[in-house]
Amino acid sequence: MANRVNCSVNNCHYWTQGNACAASSIMITSDQMGYEEPDSFDAPQASLAPPSPVESCMETCCKTFVAKGSPHIQDDGVYK
Ligand code: SF4
Repeated sequence: MANRVNCSVNNCHYWTQGNACAASSIMITSDQMGYEEPDSFDAPQASLAPPSPVESCMETCCKTFVAKGSPHIQDDGVYK
């Protein structure tokens, strides 16, 4: 069975019906790294990211999120 990312964040550019993520790749990281790194640091650079441990799911985020219609959709090198 193909890997599937389920996501309910429906204002994301990559979100599709049925709560499925249509991004070519995503990066999950700590909230802190999501805050500190620029939009251009995303899934294509994920293998270079330093470890970013957290204590709970509330401290993680999807760094690939970009709002529908945002002028920054192309900034991260991720595509649908
Ligand atoms: S990129 Fe992240 S926030 Fe956007 S639909 Fe995929 S998993 Fe959800």
